[in-house]
Amino acid sequence: MSRRRLGVLTVLLSMSLVVIHDLPASATTIAQEESSTLPGQELVLTDASFAASAMKVPVMNDRDDFSLTYYTPVQWPINPGSPISSYFGGRAAPCAGCSTNHHGVDFTPGAGVPVHAIADGVVVSMPIGGLGTQVVIKHVIDGQTVYSAYGHMQSGSATAVGTRVRMGDVVGRVGNTGMSSGTHLHLAIMVGDWNFIDPLPWMRAHVTEAWNG
Ligand SMILES: [Zn+2]
Repeated sequence: MSRRRLGVLTVLLSMSLVVIHDLPASATTIAQEESSTLPGQELVLTDASFAASAMKVPVMNDRDDFSLTYYTPVQWPINPGSPISSYFGGRAAPCAGCSTNHHGVDFTPGAGVPVHAIADGVVVSMPIGGLGTQVVIKHVIDGQTVYSAYGHMQSGSATAVGTRVRMGDVVGRVGNTGMSSGTHLHLAIMVGDWNFIDPLPWMRAHVTEAWNG
């Protein structure tokens, strides 16, 4: 190859290199300049900005407690769709000797229907006047001592005092014993000793198990 031809080839090659090299090089430069000049693209995490973000969104350690909270399983003692003949609170006495301040709720699911323990517990001796054949179960529900009482059940159907029961165990059958104007289940809930509360809102707030008959 002659020196002249080599020179021409070198010029052509260098020109093409310039052309080929320049276009992508300038395109890359523009792209880099555009991206580097966009505001807010740079993340600088200093101690000060971290502290500020921690202040705006505090770490919620108490959420761990929430996920770890153990909710005691609770179910209805009888079909929650059963008719209710008397609600909690003041009322006209439905029978001679029946209370005017009703400490429970009366369900009328029918005679002989099994009555289930609302939660795990132990049957205790805590006789409640007028309830006839009754069962009182002591529970610890969500860390609180709670008693559930089931009254007016059929004679001989009540689970014995001292028996440990599981939620759902049958503890008696619906009857008409004691001061009663008809076959029904009297359900009472006590939080602490003898502190009767309205069973319906308490049950609605605590029932965790769907009724499955
Ligand atoms: Zn009652």
